Formats: sequence, structure tokens, C-alpha cells
Amino acid sequence: MISIFRGLITTLKTTFRRPVTVQYPSTHLPLTPRYMGFPVLTWDFKIQEPYCTGCLVCARVCPTDVITVSMKDNPKAANEESHRRKIVNDFKLDISNCILCGLCVEFCNFDAIIMSDFHEEGSLTRVEQDLPLVTLLDMGKEMQDKGKFTPPPPKKRPPAKAKKDEPATDADPEKQES
Ligand code: SF4
Ligand code: SF4
Repeated sequence: MISIFRGLITTLKTTFRRPVTVQYPSTHLPLTPRYMGFPVLTWDFKIQEPYCTGCLVCARVCPTDVITVSMKDNPKAANEESHRRKIVNDFKLDISNCILCGLCVEFCNFDAIIMSDFHEEGSLTRVEQDLPLVTLLDMGKEMQDKGKFTPPPPKKRPPAKAKKDEPATDADPEKQES
């Protein structure tokens, strides 16, 4: 008998309690500030080009081999518009096999890749999980708009080296006289 009353009291208590669950996907719980989703690429708004130079470092350190990158000569470098001599040509990230370890971000020397807070990228086919360069850059811009990226200080292009075909001068004039 006592146990029935205990059960009823518990039922009454929980009936008026605020629910801890939400009706996903129409309602979303807030993300924790340091939530880490898969990586995305950043955009240099000053020069209007990606930060990524296509150097391949992220692809080499990625433990699951989910990054494919290629580079090309940067046409903006020829006009002195950009300090990047090389720029990313193509970039692909297979988010279905990314283990969100963050190594690519740690090893990138150009602040070109950041961990995002995207987490609802489900798809019906595996091919859709291969995110191309344009998508990764768009997602990166969204993260930048949210203030999740601090741009590095602007870099200046190093002065051009002396031409190799200039005649070498003998440093010791006394040797020439003797
Ligand atoms: S994201 Fe960084 S490490 Fe990866 S290719 Fe681009 S510049 Fe290199
Ligand atoms: S977070 Fe880790 S697994 Fe994912 S792309 Fe970067 S290095 Fe690869």
C-alpha cells in the first residue's frame, strides 16, 4: 500500500516538472561554446581569396586520410595583389570519416582551416559527405561571421632576391693586383 502512494507521489512530482528533452529537429538545444565539429576553410576578405595555399600539410597529418588538396600558381601574386605565390586549386573533405581530432588545424601554417560547429550534415548518400572547396569556404565564412576566427596579422611579400645571372665580383681587390 505504501509503495502505491510513493509511486503516486513520484508521478505527481514529475508531471509538473519542466521537460529536459526538446522536440528535435524543430527545436535545438544550445551548443556549448567550445563545441568542435568538422573543419572548414577560412576566407581572406582583404584580398578576396582563401587563406589556404594548398600546401598539403593537413592532408599529410590527417590520420584518416579524408583530405584531398591540390595547389596552383596564384594569379593575384603576379599583380602584387596577394602575398601568396601559391593558392588552393581544389580541396575535398570527407566528413563521414573525419574523427574531429583537430590535427589539420594545429598543423596548418596559414590559419586556413578552423574547426566549425556544424553538426547536422547528414545525407542519404556517401558522395554528399565529400564537401568541396566552395562549400567548405562558405561554411568558413559563416564561422567567421559568427566571430569564431581571428585573422592573423597581414603579411608582406618578401623583397625579390637579386638576379642569379648578375656577374660575381671578387671581394679581395689585392688578389686581382698580384
Ligand atoms: S588548409 Fe592549411 S595545411 Fe591544409 S593545404 Fe591549406 S594551407 Fe596547407
Ligand atoms: S579533424 Fe582530424 S580527421 Fe578530421 S580532417 Fe582534420 S586531421 Fe583529418
